[in-house]
This record gives sequence, C-alpha cells and structure tokens, in this order.
Amino acid sequence: MTSAVTDTSVFTALESEVRLYCRRFPAVFSRARGAELHAEDGRVFIDFFCGAGTLNYGHNNEHIGARLTAYLADGGLVHGLDLHTVAKREFLTRLRDVLLRPRGLDHKVQFCGPTGTDAVEAALKIARKATGRSGVVSFTGAYHGMSRGSLAVTGNRRARAAGGVGATEVTFVPYEDGPAGPFDSIGYLERMFTDQASGMDVPAAVIVEPLQMEGGIYPASVPWLRRLRELTERHGVLLICDEIQSGCGRTGTFFSFEHAGVVPDIVPLSKSLSGYGLPLSVVLLRPELDVWEPGEHTGTFRGNQLAFVTATAALELWERPGFQAGLAAASAGLHRFAARVRSAEPAVTVRERGMTLGIDLGRAGGPQRAELVQKRCFDGGLIVELCGREDEVVKVIPPLTIDPDTLDRGLTVLFDALREPAGQAAAGAGAMAASPAVVRTAGTR
Ligand code: PMP
Repeated sequence: MTSAVTDTSVFTALESEVRLYCRRFPAVFSRARGAELHAEDGRVFIDFFCGAGTLNYGHNNEHIGARLTAYLADGGLVHGLDLHTVAKREFLTRLRDVLLRPRGLDHKVQFCGPTGTDAVEAALKIARKATGRSGVVSFTGAYHGMSRGSLAVTGNRRARAAGGVGATEVTFVPYEDGPAGPFDSIGYLERMFTDQASGMDVPAAVIVEPLQMEGGIYPASVPWLRRLRELTERHGVLLICDEIQSGCGRTGTFFSFEHAGVVPDIVPLSKSLSGYGLPLSVVLLRPELDVWEPGEHTGTFRGNQLAFVTATAALELWERPGFQAGLAAASAGLHRFAARVRSAEPAVTVRERGMTLGIDLGRAGGPQRAELVQKRCFDGGLIVELCGREDEVVKVIPPLTIDPDTLDRGLTVLFDALREPAGQAAAGAGAMAASPAVVRTAGTR
C-alpha cells in the first residue's frame, strides 16, 4: 500500500462537523468495483460495510450498470414525480413477478421520498390513519431513521436528544435479546394489551427490525417473530417490519421476515432496493390499508427513474441461476469464520444470519477494542463498521456477490485485527481516542 497523501482541506474547512464515516475511514475515494474501493492515493480497500447496507450487489455491479448506461444513452426520463413512466412500469412488474407473487404477497406499493426514513415516516403515517390510533410500540436497540417520526421509534438516547424528540405516543419494550440479556417481549406486550388497567392504549402498530442491525446485530428468533405476528393479529395491531437494512438479501432470503414465515402488514424497503446505491424507497402495504386520498402524502423525489432502472436489473439477479447459490456459499464462508472466531476466543460473542455477522466485544475488550479492530482493519485495507449501544460490535456485511477469494482476504485481515494482543490493543485504543479522526457515535448513524 502507498502512503495516504491526499488533500482533505476543503472537507475540514467547509463541511459540517456532523460528518462521520470520513473520520473513521480517512481516505479520498475515487472508484469502486464489486467488493473493492479505490482511494485516489492508490490504496485499495475491501468493503465489508457496503454503504451501510446499500450495496448488497457490490459497487458498480456490471449487470446493473450496463442497464443504467444504456438507459441514459437512450435519453430516458430521469425525474418523473409520480407520473406513469416506462421505467416505473418495468420496475413494478418485476417487483410483482419476482418478489411479491412468488411469496404470496398481495401488498400494494407506495413510493415515498427516497431515503429510508421517508419510508418509515410513510409507514407510521398510514398505520395511524388506517387504524385511527396514534400509539406505536417499538423495541430497545431499534433504529428507524433520523427524521422526527422515525427518531421517535428509534431507541438511541443521544440521537433522540439531538432531534429534540420525546417519547410521546411511542412505547419501548425490550427486544428479544440485547446487551442486558433475553426478555419475554411478547409476554409483556400480551399483558399490556389485555389488561384494561395497564396504562397502555392498544397501539396502531408495532414496528420491528426482524434483524436489528444498528442495535448490535440481534436476529429475532422464528418463534419470537411468529408470536409477535400472532399477538398483533389478535389485537388488531398492525405489524411493520422495517426491512431497510436487513432486507434485499442480507439475511440470505430477500426479506428477513421470510425465515419465520410471517406476513407483515407494512414493509418499508430502501437502501439496497435500487441495487446500485441510487436513492429509492417504497412502502409495501396490505391492500386494505391503502386508505390514502390522492396526493395526501407527496414528495418531489418519488420518481427516481434511474433507480427504477437499476432496481429492475437488481431484481433480475434473483432470477439468475447461481445468484442464490453464490449467496448461500458466501454466507457459509462467513459462518465458518464465525465459528473460528468463537473457538479462538470464547469470550467473544458472534451473532449471525445469512450475510451478516456481528462480532460482539462487549465482554471481551469493549468499545475501545472494537475501535482498535476497526482501525487495524482499515490500515490493513478492510472497511468494517461498528454498531451496538456503545459501538462495541464489529459489523460485517460484505456484498452478497463477493467472490470467495476476496471474502477470504478480507476475513484474514479481520481475524488478524481481532487476534492482536490485548496489551497492544489498550495502548492503541488510547492513541486512537486522542485522534480527531476517530469519534464515537453511539449508534447515531
Ligand atoms: N431503518 C433502518 C433499519 C436502518 O438501518 C436505516 C438506516 N441505517 C433507516 C431506517 C434509515 O434510513 P436512511 O438513513 O436512508 O434514512
């Protein structure tokens, strides 16, 4: 690797202090392909972070990119409000044929603003409008976005305080698992819903991530999700499964709720939906919940035609022979690595599902060690992000399409970073804490 000599002065002088990832990964990036990111100084990084779950098919996926360039070369419409367009027709048709019908889902599709938080806002709004109730139940460790409604159902205190959001209308219940250990969330909710003196009104909806990502990689078990579905159904409460980060194949199937065989009422989808890093969000909702009047929930950027084109191409990948086999093989490689980490250091907890791994150092060095592991990975040419309450969990989310050799190379860097002796780790973490380039986020991403 060459040394990092690049000009970052304009970022420091002009860009708001709120910038985050550039502090953790100090390079100036210029090009990317597949699982590799190139910096302008010649360094090449393997990317196990994938734009926070936005690049499940890798950077500049060849199949998807070819569709995009052909569309642009043809003078295809780029911006389209919510007009009928050819690109949107193709996307909706593909979504129905590849995603919805084969899973027996008859959900309708609402286009909303282009970010994940826009989809969560729309989901909460429709749940309240359709039920005529205002309360929402969310879970500890949840992350649903940074705008006010989404923030209100996000657990992190620091993020909530930054947004000036109180706990009105939202009741938090411990998730099935977390740093404090397991909890019978469904038993608790059952009691609160049925006791007319519980102090909790029956809510409009329960919002849940079937696999908590930012909260520290906590996968909900199949029985837990089934009980939640059964409970909500029995009480006429809508179930919103936030698939924004855990969806689009991250857990091995397209949706992360599929493992449990449950059907949510409302599903916000975003991040990897466009398949190419272009902003695109939708809300899937059961037909009877589609009680919107025309124009009641609008947005200028609901018609990102380029994202429709790339999303259509991304869905085609799911129909290709070999795509799902490749995903299963890569996931198996990741799980073998998880077993290796566990046996090398039993104090480390590793949680996994599909192409997602959370290496929890909470009881094995804590956030300081996690920070050091991240820095050592970066120095070794690997990008990994941290998650969890205190950033104590190393989050490993490689592209679903990664080739075995690149996966192995990245995992070797990670294993070496984890195996650094604790003494060195402590010294290094101290040095890092003093560096302005490294900041703790406490899940405010
Ligand atoms: N929900 C989940 C589960 C997320 O992980 C995120 C983003 N990390 C969001 C919602 C918000 O998405 P966005 O940052 O695009 O607003």
